[in-house]
Amino acid sequence: MHDFTRKILAWYKKQGRKDLPWQQNKTAYRVWISEIMLQQTQVKTVIPYYLRFMENFPDIASLASASLDSVLALWAGLGYYTRARNLHKTAIIIQNNYYGKFPSDVEKIIELPGIGRSTASAILAFSEKQALTILDGNVKRVLARLHTVAGWPGKPDIEKKLWAIAEAYTPTSRYIADYTQAIMDLGATVCTRSKPKCIECPVSSECLAFEQNETALYPNPSPKKSLPTKHIFFLLLKNQKNEILLERRPEAGIWGGLWSLPETTTPDLPFSYLNNFGLSTKNKTQALDPIKHIFSHFKLIATPVQHLVKSTSTRAMSNTSILWHNPHNPLPKGVPAPIKKLLMQLAREFP
Ligand code: SF4
Repeated sequence: MHDFTRKILAWYKKQGRKDLPWQQNKTAYRVWISEIMLQQTQVKTVIPYYLRFMENFPDIASLASASLDSVLALWAGLGYYTRARNLHKTAIIIQNNYYGKFPSDVEKIIELPGIGRSTASAILAFSEKQALTILDGNVKRVLARLHTVAGWPGKPDIEKKLWAIAEAYTPTSRYIADYTQAIMDLGATVCTRSKPKCIECPVSSECLAFEQNETALYPNPSPKKSLPTKHIFFLLLKNQKNEILLERRPEAGIWGGLWSLPETTTPDLPFSYLNNFGLSTKNKTQALDPIKHIFSHFKLIATPVQHLVKSTSTRAMSNTSILWHNPHNPLPKGVPAPIKKLLMQLAREFP
C-alpha cells in the first residue's frame, strides 16, 4: 500500500466523519442519492434534504413510481434541478431494466442519466467494496496540490493526469470504502479551497505545494468567463379574486417542470398569450422590483410586471399546465426559490 494511502487511512480512523446519514446502511441507492445531492452542495445543506428524501422515497421502487412533481418538490431550494430530473429518470430505468436493483458493473452505471465515472465508482466502492477510483472536486484539489499539477483540472489532459495519480493511490477492496471516505473528507475538511489546514494534514510531508509554500496556486482556477446577463419579464397575471397565474415550465431548460410565472421578453402581454389562454386584460400594469438570480451559465434579471386579468375562459381554467394560485394558500409542489420568495412577498402585501 502506498504511504499516502496508509497515512490518510490512519487519519480517517481517528478523525474522519463516520456519522453522516448516508454512511449508515450503505446501499447503492442511499449512496447514489447522497453523491448526487452533494454535487456543488455542502454537507450541512444536504443533510435535511437527504433525510426528507429518504423518508419519502426509501428505495428505487418508491422513487421510480413517484411523480416528477413530488421529486422536484423535495428538491426545491437545492438548485441544479437537472440532478433531480435525472434521479427520477434513472430510478425508472433501474426499475424497468434491472429489476429494481442497481447494476454492479461500473460501465453500466455510467450509462445511466446524471452519473459520471467518479460517482459510479463511489457508489460501488461504498456499497460493494469494489476497488474503484474516485476523482471528485475535493480529490482533484488534494492531488493537484500534492503533486503541484499545473493547469485547470477541468481540462481533459489535466484530468487524465489526476486520474492516473488517483488510481495509483487506490487500495484494494479491503480498504476501499474507508479510503474513499477518507480522501473525500480530507478535501472537504482539511485541504479546503481557501486556507487549507496544512499543519493538521496527515500528508503534509509529501505535499509539494505545501513544501513550496504555493498551496494557493493549486489547483489552477478555471479560465475566467464573464457570465452573460439575460433580461426577461415575469407576467404577474392577477385575476379578480387576487389569484396569480402559475405556469409549469417545459421539461428542458432552467427550472424544467417547476411551477413559475409566465416569462416574456417584453413587459406587454403577448397577443398569442391572450389568445392561447383565453385571457383579456385591462390596460393597467405595474412593474415590481427585479428579481436577480445567478445560474451556472448566466445571470438572470427578471422584472415582474403585474397585469390585471378581467376574465378567464373555461379553456384557460382547464389547461393542466397552468393554475391560479391564491397567495394566501400553500404553494403548489415544486416552485423555484426566487419565485417562492416573490409569491410570499405578494401574500404579505395582498389584502
Ligand atoms: Fe492540502 Fe496542505 Fe495537506 Fe497539501 S499539506 S494536501 S495543501 S492540506
